[in-house]
Parts: sequence; C-alpha cells; structure tokens
Amino acid sequence: MDFQNSFDHFVFDLDGVIYSGEKAISSSPEVLETLRKNKREIRFITNNPSRSPSDYAEKLRGLGIRSHDSEFVTSPMATASMIRENLSSEKWKTVFIAGSDYLRNEVGKTGLVEVSGNDSPGADLVVIGSHPGFNLEEIKTASIAIGNGADFIGTNGDFFYPCEHGRAPATGALLASVEAASGKKAVTAGKPEKYMFDILEKSGVAPTKKTLLVGDSLRTDVAGGKKAGYSTALVLSGVTKKTDLEGNAIKPDFILENVSFLLKPS
Ligand SMILES: [Mg+2]
Repeated sequence: MDFQNSFDHFVFDLDGVIYSGEKAISSSPEVLETLRKNKREIRFITNNPSRSPSDYAEKLRGLGIRSHDSEFVTSPMATASMIRENLSSEKWKTVFIAGSDYLRNEVGKTGLVEVSGNDSPGADLVVIGSHPGFNLEEIKTASIAIGNGADFIGTNGDFFYPCEHGRAPATGALLASVEAASGKKAVTAGKPEKYMFDILEKSGVAPTKKTLLVGDSLRTDVAGGKKAGYSTALVLSGVTKKTDLEGNAIKPDFILENVSFLLKPS
C-alpha cells in the first residue's frame, strides 16, 4: 500500500500516535514532514481536553514538528459544538465546569454563564474534562448539581492514557466517579461522536475514503473515523495491543506498528 499517494487528507490522533508523553513515537516528525512536502493536508484530532491548539503546536514544535493552530481539533471544541446544538431548547443558561482554563474558555464562547461557589448546585449543566487539579470537591459539586437536575456532559470518554509507568486516568475515569456519586451517566462530545468530525469537514476534510484517520484507539479513533466515512489505520504504538484486536467488532482498514509504516510501501 502506498499510503502517501493513496490519500488526500491525513487526520492524526496525537497521544500514542505522534508522541508518548514528551517523546516522539518512532519517526513521526519525518513522517509529517514528508507528507507536507508532498502537499498532503494534515489535521490533528485529540480527545485530551487540557490543552489548546496553540499549546499543542508548541508541544509539537519541541518535538521538531511543524504545525498550525488551525490544524487541531480538540474535545473542548466538540463540547462547545454539542452545547450550541442544544442551546435552542433554552434549557441551559448556567454551567458548572470542572476542567482546564482552555475548556472554560471554549464553553464560555457558547454564551453559557459559568457558575461557582454557592451558585454551583443550581447549575443547568455540568461539564467535566480532565485537568490536573481535579478533586473531591469537584466530584461533590458536580454530583449535587446533577442530583438537582443538571444535565451532564463529559469532554471525552477515554478511561486512561499510557504514561511512562503504566496507565494514567483520563476523563472517562473522572466521569466514572461523578457517575457513581450522582447515579447519572454523562454524555460525551469527543471521538467517536460526530462533533470533531463535523468540525474537520467544515475545515475542508472530505468525509470519504480518500481521508485516512490514524489513531491508537479502536473505541474512539477507529470507530469515529469509520462513522465519518474515512479510511482508518490503527497503530499499535499506544493504548491498543495486538491481542485487543481478536474478536473486536471494530475493524480498522489497516493495522500498523507505528506511523513510520505510512512511509513504507508494502
Ligand atoms: Mg491516542
């Protein structure tokens, strides 16, 4: 398969695909540079809700990878899209947010009023995205607001991400704590839901087989890419191991050890 010449758009997940922690995976900088030289369109799509596009561009720069802010689609952007889609019902005016400043900023752009302190239990909506300061008080506040009738959105449903020493909790693990306390399930906005893919389409990425999504998660990347109509490549450099593929109903078009294999015709 000559990947470079078979696709017009390449949509890359970041964690477990382009880098792991602070290190580039395999020759990902060279892969991206080669695609750019050959005038292929590149996008980055991540469920991690803690960083903004400019933060990601800076991180990639540190790994020797060129990128532009406009090439990133994040789960806070997806969350804002989901909120906007529901605003016409006028059931939401106020929101309690447990998340990064970047998430607050994206949700704030929808026009919802963020509440805190004594106003939190009466919020119409609770939004949660993983952030380093997540704590018991946030679980409690969210659970009380949800018990009082607030709707409940999570930026993404990923349970963990791989770190240097093993599995580290992602937003899905934090949502589980609030779900257990409140007895109510969150709806999530990131991959595999449609919102990030709709944003990609608006930015010129065709929802066809000529677009290749490259991800390390079957449940979020591959499932989302397939729903969007893309071709999908699973890389085994992140959360999915070869043994996870057996009997899994989600089947990628291609399975690669890592992104370097995109440059090797096979
Ligand atoms: Mg990933």
